[in-house]
Amino acid sequence: NFDFSARVDRVEPSATLAISNLASELEAQGEDVVDLSVGAPDFPTPENIVQAAKDAMDAGHTGYTSSNGIPELKEAIAEKLRGNGVDADADEVIVTPGGKQALFETFQTLIDDGDEVVLLDPAWVSYEAMVKLSGGSLKRVDLAPHDFRLEPALDELADTVSDETKLLVVNSPSNPTGGVFSDAALEGVRDLAVEHDIAVISDEIYERITYDGFEHTSLGSLDGMEDRTITINGFSKAFSMTGWRLGYLHAPEDLISQAGKLHSHSVSCAVNFVQHAGVEALSDRTDDTVEEMREAFEGRRDMLVDLLAEHGVDVAVPKGAFYMMLPVDDSAVQGTAENASGEQPRADDQAWCEGAIQDAKVATVPGSAFNAPGYARISYAASEERLREAVERLAEHDYI
Ligand code: PLP
Repeated sequence: NFDFSARVDRVEPSATLAISNLASELEAQGEDVVDLSVGAPDFPTPENIVQAAKDAMDAGHTGYTSSNGIPELKEAIAEKLRGNGVDADADEVIVTPGGKQALFETFQTLIDDGDEVVLLDPAWVSYEAMVKLSGGSLKRVDLAPHDFRLEPALDELADTVSDETKLLVVNSPSNPTGGVFSDAALEGVRDLAVEHDIAVISDEIYERITYDGFEHTSLGSLDGMEDRTITINGFSKAFSMTGWRLGYLHAPEDLISQAGKLHSHSVSCAVNFVQHAGVEALSDRTDDTVEEMREAFEGRRDMLVDLLAEHGVDVAVPKGAFYMMLPVDDSAVQGTAENASGEQPRADDQAWCEGAIQDAKVATVPGSAFNAPGYARISYAASEERLREAVERLAEHDYI
């Protein structure tokens, strides 16, 4: 028997695992499961990016690179960030195997035992785990009562943060809500961060997927934020490159030199030819394909919102990413109370999700995984046909 570290004991396996295991089991039994639980675009990686990786391999780019990344990619990232109004230099970038590793390195670099980190709920599952692994303590502000908007919750955020707060995590567009924070909300964050001298992680991995003409604002571009923002981004979502594992962090140079120690002693570097493909991804040659995918997501969002409305379910309409929160508690799901089978409303989102996959063969993620009980997260990274099928099945089995 091993004596496990307190660190690893502090975290739970991902709550989404139960659902995906169940989905795999059912599929192995020959069931047709509509899987709306995955956070991965369903498009192929754009052709020019794939070709760039092949070319890089053929050219022999298969060895280690300098730890923080190849100069061409760091420069391309810095240039991209300057386009967002962030005062970025290639030396202030670490290229990582996925945005997740960039986040992990950031928490490990900044957080000591007991340091206070503030999350905005519903929050992506791994933030909490990463804070716990670094020994930090959590405070949370719930955006669910405000339709997942930050602006109406700024007073609560002001009551929650203090001079004791070390780090605040902002994720816009958001996984799991699809919410996009307004400029006024981001300015509110800035004012509090400056007042209490707080570092802020701005996870902008969904920045290229916004709707209704909404333009993404980088938090690090706001006055007062340049020296306290760690901008996280990655290639998984915008370029449909989840399996390539490529992301980055941008921060002031002193943080980069500290995080660079962790980086060099853990992953060494991101994959060489994948970094070359990353340079191609950031070129304007990929813009049209990215826009096509964005439009497809927007079309699916519109369709899903309409279909759910036809069944009496109102959702907070997502402004970005490819997720939405489906209310599944008894007050939110109209009609459930008097549904045909006379069953009790399913108030528990975990039970709702397990039931929905067993009965309707539709996989979603319980909101409690994101500290948002009473909701199920739907990922609409699936074809319109499959989304229609999912809604029909959920309705047929009285889940909506
Ligand atoms: N941040 C958010 C909010 C995410 O949803 C994800 C992936 O699901 C990541 C970061 C990490 O993505 P990756 O490690 O694939 O770059």
